Amino acid sequence: MGMYWQKDLETMTASQLEAHQFQKLKETVSLAEQSPYYGGLFKKRGLGTANLKSLEDISLFPMTTKEDLRENFPYGFLTMPLNNTIRLHCSSGTTGNPTVIFHNRHDLDSWANLVARSLFAAGARSTDVFQNICGYGLFTGGLGFQYGAECLGALTIPAGAGNSKRQIQLMQNFGTTVVHAIPSYLTRLYTVFEELGIDIARDTKLRLLVIGAEPHTEAQRQRIQDLFGIKAFNSFGLSEMNGPGVAFECEYQTGLHLWEDAFFAEIINPDTLEPVPEGEVGELVMTTLDRQAMPLIRYRTRDLTRFLPGECPCGRTHRRIDRITGRTDDMFIVKGCNIFPMQVEKILMNFPEIGHNYLIVLETIKGVDEMLIKVEVSRDWFAGDMDVLENLRRRVVNEIRDEVLLTPQVKLVEPGALPKQEGKAVRVQDLRKNEGA
Ligand code: AMP
Ligand code: ZN
Repeated sequence: MGMYWQKDLETMTASQLEAHQFQKLKETVSLAEQSPYYGGLFKKRGLGTANLKSLEDISLFPMTTKEDLRENFPYGFLTMPLNNTIRLHCSSGTTGNPTVIFHNRHDLDSWANLVARSLFAAGARSTDVFQNICGYGLFTGGLGFQYGAECLGALTIPAGAGNSKRQIQLMQNFGTTVVHAIPSYLTRLYTVFEELGIDIARDTKLRLLVIGAEPHTEAQRQRIQDLFGIKAFNSFGLSEMNGPGVAFECEYQTGLHLWEDAFFAEIINPDTLEPVPEGEVGELVMTTLDRQAMPLIRYRTRDLTRFLPGECPCGRTHRRIDRITGRTDDMFIVKGCNIFPMQVEKILMNFPEIGHNYLIVLETIKGVDEMLIKVEVSRDWFAGDMDVLENLRRRVVNEIRDEVLLTPQVKLVEPGALPKQEGKAVRVQDLRKNEGA
């Protein structure tokens, strides 16, 4: 049993938590009614707080989708005059109107506290020097972790994204102990440490990594931990639920505690919209319980995960979710096989000969859809002779085929050959004439 940021909230019994959630849900529904969107919808369906006799009655309320947010862009979900809000953030959406979330003072304080609580759970303390390596701006990872780490009391360096040499210099100048970055960037940063001949254990004070904002496998986490020689904790969040600070790993790294005093979570079958049996994978649906300017009710995140059974040795009672295995919208279909990028990554990362970067390209060749996987070979192996590389290539093809039931084309490329991305890694390029066919 460890220490907590907010013991009362983090270790509530199931019945205390349920009572807390029920109270917060009623407040949230009555606030939501003030917004044009929910106000209109609830009136039409005859819904309101009077319908809420217990927590389960949340199922009477319709779900909210990203499309609903887009169609009511930008102010349709606001519960208060715009001048009572003090900040907005957008999600990294792909096309069309972005989704925008407004916050008032209460919302920002509540968010910063959740991030502080998350960092504390992972082992960060006020004595740490926290370097936040990610984009500042509309993306929530920058300011979200900035204010969260400040709330924790750590010296917080708003390092921003990119410029690896400068990042390393900052770490050395100020004795950075904790770094937050997206996983695909950390593997790149490591190669710069190598190039500069800087030994992380000897020449820096780094002791803990926080990684998140993009999907990654357990194998990739292990790699990052092995490269840096320290632990890396998974951080999950999305702009619609503030950003970081939704679910986070504690020191035991046995899944991510989802902060249930601030969010009500359901896991549903995305086709039937019914709850999945306890412990099965489905789409995460979330309701904000502590947001005033723009509460969201039963928001469909599109993220796929499951609740993990059992109790965590840390003593926190908030349920844990498994790492995100994919999104309902990042699955692609080739020759009738449903494939998630993380299935491919899982296989690749188990090969020590394979480097950190890969790209899945879907294309139509002579009228047939094909999956081409470009894979960077690790530096130590690339010099190997052709036979060795060909043998490696075949083993990769076979293992991926066994996992996804489709024979991919695999092309091995030299380290650093694939395009590098500033923000979240793009793992799939779909160049097919007839997408999804
Ligand atoms: P955004 O709102 O633009 O920051 O994007 C949020 C999305 O990023 C989530 O819905 C997830 O799909 C993804 N994401 C964030 N954190 C993680 C994580 N730790 N593991 C996997 N995916 C993540
Ligand atoms: Zn725990």
